[in-house]
Amino acid sequence: MSKVTELWSKKPNNTVVASLDNSAMSIIRHTDFLSLKPNNWLVGETIDFYLHLMKKEMDLENNVLVMDHFLTGAILEGRQDIQKKHLLKRVCLEKCGAIIGAWNLHHNHWVLVYLNVNTHTVVLLDPQKDNEMVESKVAADCFSNFFALRNERLKKQELCGKNWKPATVAHTLQKDSSSCGVFVMEMGKQLINHFPRVPSYIVIPGDIIQCRETMAMEILSGSVSLEEACQWCGRFPDTDWDGDWILCDGCERWQHRVCVGMKKEQFKNIAHVMWHCTACEEESVIKQQRTSGSEPKIKRLIDGYSQAVIAVDKLYVNEQLYQDRDTTPWLY
Ligand SMILES: [Zn+2]
Ligand SMILES: [Zn+2]
Repeated sequence: MSKVTELWSKKPNNTVVASLDNSAMSIIRHTDFLSLKPNNWLVGETIDFYLHLMKKEMDLENNVLVMDHFLTGAILEGRQDIQKKHLLKRVCLEKCGAIIGAWNLHHNHWVLVYLNVNTHTVVLLDPQKDNEMVESKVAADCFSNFFALRNERLKKQELCGKNWKPATVAHTLQKDSSSCGVFVMEMGKQLINHFPRVPSYIVIPGDIIQCRETMAMEILSGSVSLEEACQWCGRFPDTDWDGDWILCDGCERWQHRVCVGMKKEQFKNIAHVMWHCTACEEESVIKQQRTSGSEPKIKRLIDGYSQAVIAVDKLYVNEQLYQDRDTTPWLY
């Protein structure tokens, strides 16, 4: 069974299935990953993650700004109340050559917006429409207003006062009722791949089911290894977020004690008994015996020394012997 099939066959849970880096800033959860399954309706989190992944793979860090679907929607719906709270204060728009974002139109249809900063053109791509000049014009006005608001509130003139013009890109039309999200992801991928050029035509593969599976595989293979990350929050042990860690006997993935809501008292006694995370309990992946043998199944971060806890027999903190594997079991 492929990893995609395996994850798709599971009941929805909140574990992190892919992450773009070790910062846990860009992650995708199992529930959202399931929206790629055939005939399901894509959620914005999955579309956003995929666009970020495509940008990362093309190495376009400062050149393309992927705007999340929430802000894209607020801009295209003219919702200044939301825009004022999300003015992209830390983002330097001057540097980027393109802005891309998905919009959940009327909360039931995904469309994509693409701003070409070099030519000051705005393209709105609607999978069900074959000439979106009118929609692109509306989008151009909405973004002009956003840049003006940004200038007014932050005194950032970037992209403000430009004459944003509408444009179109021809594309394959969506034939079914559920694949607008897949279209938007594929359109986004092709626009990012062609950057800084804009393709004259976007072809969407006819086999949408295959397309969904390919995207799911791309998401998993594009992820950093999650072996060391907490499966609920996606953070890694070497980040400044400390805490106690516990290994699940079912899936053998690490998690923070607090992320599973375990009390300190229970944590102290957990090292030698079987323990399963809620995702495994849901799936009834309950093992009667530990397979990881003598490997420690808990660890505690001490000033960022957690890596050492599992790697060495004697642990020194500030040159003092903190823990000796020969004399004490790995319990604190
Ligand atoms: Zn966590
Ligand atoms: Zn588990």
